[in-house]
Amino acid sequence: MASATADCPVCGSVSVQEYGRRKLWSLTQCSQCASVYRTVFPTQEELDEIYGSDYYDSWNIEANAESFWQMKIKNSTSYLMKLDRYLPYHRDRTLLDVGCAHGFMLEAASQLGYVSSGLEISPAGDIARERGFHVVGSNLEDRPFPPESFDVVTMIDVIEHLTDPLEALRCVYAMLKPEGIVFLVTPDIGSFSARIMRSAWPHYLPEHLIYYSPTSMHTLLDRTGLDVMEIGPGYKYLTISYIVGHLSSSLGGFIPRGLWSIANALPSLFTGKPLRYRTEMIAIGRKKAL
Ligand SMILES: [Zn+2]
Repeated sequence: MASATADCPVCGSVSVQEYGRRKLWSLTQCSQCASVYRTVFPTQEELDEIYGSDYYDSWNIEANAESFWQMKIKNSTSYLMKLDRYLPYHRDRTLLDVGCAHGFMLEAASQLGYVSSGLEISPAGDIARERGFHVVGSNLEDRPFPPESFDVVTMIDVIEHLTDPLEALRCVYAMLKPEGIVFLVTPDIGSFSARIMRSAWPHYLPEHLIYYSPTSMHTLLDRTGLDVMEIGPGYKYLTISYIVGHLSSSLGGFIPRGLWSIANALPSLFTGKPLRYRTEMIAIGRKKAL
């Protein structure tokens, strides 16, 4: 059964107000921490349907497999370079990527010398396993790794999907070594694009349950016990093929589908070239020293 989320799922405040409707969904905003969230969370059955075997079809992978893989590795590598300054150097650094999908972050991390593991409950995890990566098919809440296992935990486009982000980050906290780093990427509902595009903002998706602003992200990290190292704009390398695939899948309709057909007909040298866009927010938290 769908549950109305009266209290703020980030800070627990009961002081909340209507945010308005976006696409099909009514949203609520917390007056305390500024998080915005679905007034009624989807049922487990609805979520299972969303995360079915065709969930990653919108990535438009087959159309441009090689450039897609390179685009994802480039993004993952840039995230690892970004967090590197907060991590003391030592050999055999360990990394867990939560929601690792096909294993792009695991590949990028391995190239930089990390011993990397992934967590993925969807069938996409099988592709990462076929590539030779260690991927566990459990939820974070099952705490599938011993305490203090990792120097870095990455969660790229994951936290906005979770109904209980505080519990999820507490699990991450437990799995981090002292002074370990958690690195998050998530849409920023306080961003200029979110405010100006309103319902046309591409991050309004059925599986996105909670939207963060820098203020609410700060609250979340702080409540978990993490030191907030950095919260700021995030950049991604995206190809035209990928953008059009996403638009076509999330908006539907004649024009996006037409664009997709056109994009697939264009030379891959053009549609597969990654360009850098400001898209989301990054957040870096650090576990306290012993
Ligand atoms: Zn709140």
